[in-house]
Amino acid sequence: MKTPTSEAASTHGGAVRSYTLRLYPNPGKAKEAFGILLEQRAWLYEFVRQHMATGEETWTTSTEGLGWAANRALRRARAIVKAGRSSSIATGNQFNEPRCLPLMGDGTVEPSATLTFGYWVKMTPGPRLPAKSHQGLNKALRAGGTLMNTAEIAVDRKGRLSARVFVRFAIPETRDTGDYIGVDVGVNHGLYTSEGYQGKSLRPLLDKTKAKNAERRRQGHVHKLQSRRSACKQFLDREAKRLVASAKRGNKTLVMESSKALGNLKITGSIGAWARQHLGCRVSYLAEITGVAVREEWPAYTSTTCEVCGFSHKKNRCGTEFVCRQCGAIAHADALAARNLARRARGVFPMAGKNIKAAQQTRESRLTLAPQGEGA
Ligand SMILES: [Zn+2]
Repeated sequence: MKTPTSEAASTHGGAVRSYTLRLYPNPGKAKEAFGILLEQRAWLYEFVRQHMATGEETWTTSTEGLGWAANRALRRARAIVKAGRSSSIATGNQFNEPRCLPLMGDGTVEPSATLTFGYWVKMTPGPRLPAKSHQGLNKALRAGGTLMNTAEIAVDRKGRLSARVFVRFAIPETRDTGDYIGVDVGVNHGLYTSEGYQGKSLRPLLDKTKAKNAERRRQGHVHKLQSRRSACKQFLDREAKRLVASAKRGNKTLVMESSKALGNLKITGSIGAWARQHLGCRVSYLAEITGVAVREEWPAYTSTTCEVCGFSHKKNRCGTEFVCRQCGAIAHADALAARNLARRARGVFPMAGKNIKAAQQTRESRLTLAPQGEGA
């Protein structure tokens, strides 16, 4: 059984996930299917090479009289060249002839009436191939997804035929509920929310991966190295899931740092900046498919502004500690940032009128209680 791949792509009108189904053709059908795929790939090579040789901007090749396989291959070749060109513009690397081209074809999928196989995948043109469903796909369909009828036939690494099928999820309506949870992300604590949730630190995870990699390198298992990012990814994905689920339960709206502000972060390989961005993307995707509203707020001054008196100063914060230089309030800087983010969404940042009065009173009482007053 194949494990489900679930690449999420948000498209117009719904989120689409893809799942890979193993195909179980009999030898005759398998031979036929491979023949078709190989013919298409041969044409694909031909068209991509032709294009690379001439390097023309406009594609003038015609497939008239060459048959359907050439026709489909030409369409795919166009897409490959286009993608290659835009990636070469983006990265500055020269776009060379692709070293290998995929063995791929198009098809349609429909449920089967028999119990032996879940689905029929029909290659267009080509034979009908039986496919087995699996847990991931069944779960997606139970959760209200609809199976689209297009499929992509491909060959996996072990040389077996498989089909990629797509499930579309309708996006539930999201509504700003006015009840906000502020979220702050960093390396030292993972995630902090305005409701007092404190995530685990990413540090031990990073150190562990580093140590593990060092050991593997020492033993010569270089291919088993795990990047620090992929180690954090699983962890952050779990946190995102938990966060969105808790917002859904409480009918709340999430407040995240604005993604424009995230874009301004230094990109000098900082894992913190990457973690923030990754969590932000993950949360907005999960929120979208579960129907939780996400609001973005500008994070400036949220970690240096006192929540009691509204006094804002750079020196209020020192590392993770926050001490107000005006009223003496103490807080965890990141927890404070999360709460302030939520308050900014509520429109009471930096100060609500009531709080200012309360803060002034505390300040006065503190001053009168102090053995040496200011004398003024
Ligand atoms: Zn204060």
